[in-house]
Amino acid sequence: MKKYLTLIFLFFYFSVDAQSVNTYLDKIRNNPAKLTAFFSQMPKGGDLHHHYSGSVYAETFIKYVIEKDYFLNKQTLEVNNRKTSEDENWTKFSTLEKDGQLSEYKFRLLQKWSIKDYNQVSIPSDKQFFETFPNFSIASRNDVETGLLEIKKRAIDEHVSYIETTFFSPACGRTDDVSLQFDPKLQVVLKEKNVTHCQAILDTVYGELIKKDIISCADNFSANTITKTHSSLHIDDDLFTMRYQTYTVRTFEATEVFKRLLSAFDAASKNPLIVGVNILSPENNDIAMRDYWLHMQMFRYLHMKYPGVKYSMHAGELTLGLVKPEELNWHINAAVFDAGASRIGHGVDMPYETNSYALMNYMKKKGIAVEINLSSNEFILKVKEGRHPVTLYKEFQVPIVISSDDAGVLRTNLTEQYVLLANRYPEFTYQDIKEIVYNSIKYSFIKEPDIKQKLTAKLDKDFIQFEKLILVTSKMEH
Ligand SMILES: [Zn+2]
Repeated sequence: MKKYLTLIFLFFYFSVDAQSVNTYLDKIRNNPAKLTAFFSQMPKGGDLHHHYSGSVYAETFIKYVIEKDYFLNKQTLEVNNRKTSEDENWTKFSTLEKDGQLSEYKFRLLQKWSIKDYNQVSIPSDKQFFETFPNFSIASRNDVETGLLEIKKRAIDEHVSYIETTFFSPACGRTDDVSLQFDPKLQVVLKEKNVTHCQAILDTVYGELIKKDIISCADNFSANTITKTHSSLHIDDDLFTMRYQTYTVRTFEATEVFKRLLSAFDAASKNPLIVGVNILSPENNDIAMRDYWLHMQMFRYLHMKYPGVKYSMHAGELTLGLVKPEELNWHINAAVFDAGASRIGHGVDMPYETNSYALMNYMKKKGIAVEINLSSNEFILKVKEGRHPVTLYKEFQVPIVISSDDAGVLRTNLTEQYVLLANRYPEFTYQDIKEIVYNSIKYSFIKEPDIKQKLTAKLDKDFIQFEKLILVTSKMEH
């Protein structure tokens, strides 16, 4: 009996706490500095839409290429470990240092490898954003250890206990003969949009790729790139857990995309650290737009081969003006209904989707969460404030998670995403925000039930402490 009384008391006590926190949050809603202090200390659970290379800050990559004394092209700001042409602009970093020019070029690289000081004039914002990735890949590919540890440390500092990051794609050998044979066939089937015919062709391509030993390539990726790196760095501990998604970019020709997806699904089906698959890169790219339907069919096919593998899909990262209106109304529909996505990344074009109300009701019913990236959408798509569909998703009770996307390139963090949410959308109460935080564990792709449980228990504990802290603070203010 005493135990029950204690439970009732605890429930009452903590609901009162949460209510007072809500009152305090309402009081500070219009003050971004106070909101920043509040959300910096709030436990945030997980960050589920997170790209490894886009999350490391450019300073780290620059430090790496300077330490390696790579070459910089002073004209184009390309960095390489060797001169790629006879161009006399190629200079070693050590020479720049001797000439007293290092800090100037460091600063220029920072602007090239992120959105720092972006002036909205010389280059479109989406171009500025997406071009950073190939530019810093010489560092992001080769110094994974520093990057992962930086991400972990930053996460712990801002009370994030779990990250699900897209982390490399298995690079299997060339299969040009298969591409040569099947790319034209896939383009024909794309025009017909015949699902049965398409699935039959994919089945043949699958057979051909299996003969090319794609599976052992996936095994190798899984063991060496993922498991070895993760365990040697001791990433997981009491404060933090990291899991990985592998992916394909959507800008290759169809057979290549399918090959990468096959190796991604296979790796994800076997390794507990690889919890899901994704598809990424600019959705409005020519090939990405042309082949979108095919890509959905590929997921549908691989879902039948690997029913246990979860996948989140970048879908609807589009807006009016970026593509033709008739391209704005079907990408999320197709990701949900044709491909069977477990989560949707971005989902910005929802207001334009055909039968959007039915689509959102379906997402709610099936527990298909949407990953909202406010800073990213504002920079790349210029969709913000009342134009952003986050409140539409809320109205239809689609599970929401708040994520950072590419905090390094965008020079932001997860805390700032909560600040923007609370400041711009007062309809999100403290209870709603708390639910969003719990969603980030609930809708994560973590495979081990005990880890999910541990992270939820940590949230329970951390929220009690956080609410006590806010209570004391808000009383001080009276
Ligand atoms: Zn993304």
